[in-house]
Amino acid sequence: MKGEEVFLKHLTWPEIARGIEAGYRRVIIVLGATEQHGPHLAEATDEVIGMGLAGGLARRLGKTYVAPPVVPGLSDHHLKLPGTLSLRPETMKMILEDYVSGYRSHGFDRFVFLPSHGGNMAFSAEMAQAFQKRYPSDRFTSPFDLKTMIHLMAKFEADHRLPRGSCGGHACAFETSLMLYLAPEMVRMDRAEPGYTGVPDEAFVKKMFQEGITGVSPAGVIGDPTRATEALGEIFFNETLEVIHRAVTALE
Ligand SMILES: [Zn+2]
Repeated sequence: MKGEEVFLKHLTWPEIARGIEAGYRRVIIVLGATEQHGPHLAEATDEVIGMGLAGGLARRLGKTYVAPPVVPGLSDHHLKLPGTLSLRPETMKMILEDYVSGYRSHGFDRFVFLPSHGGNMAFSAEMAQAFQKRYPSDRFTSPFDLKTMIHLMAKFEADHRLPRGSCGGHACAFETSLMLYLAPEMVRMDRAEPGYTGVPDEAFVKKMFQEGITGVSPAGVIGDPTRATEALGEIFFNETLEVIHRAVTALE
């Protein structure tokens, strides 16, 4: 990552102390996952995408740091494929409590929970609300939700003439393009294959949560990663960042 250093774990404590002195009061906490992403993407995919977006968001917002990511995430429906880990919501809640109380004790008072994995999104919004209640003078936001993501996926498909369903949301043309842009060494493009590309209707969602991902796609893919390119990744990255940036600005 070039430019201003925003990742807290890359900084020393005196550097962080000087940052806080200079008005750095906001921390972005990525709620990622360690989870299967088909035969072609590494299990760190949601962590890589989340940290990439968080770095970009921190630089756009200014005076903002990025915490070490919270991983694994809430990934029960992916557990059938090897390597996936899944936290219990109460575990994840306790981890967030410890992050927030640590950073609050150092003087931070604005927290952005950034979920980069669909299974974390509702939880992230709930947590932001719960912390807001507990610490009313601080600010807690969760600027990315499932509805926004589904809307973005449809927009990307329309804008770039991708077949409907190719940006299905998991190891799809969207995530694979982002990974080609952010971390190409974690992509095996020669192994990419289309997964479920139908409409993500209620029956589909029900089947996925009842039977797990392999109930809807044996390879663990929702969408068509063969349509992914690095150039699309750069476009998707910047547009997603723009949407998240606007949301944080509106919510704070
Ligand atoms: Zn993912």
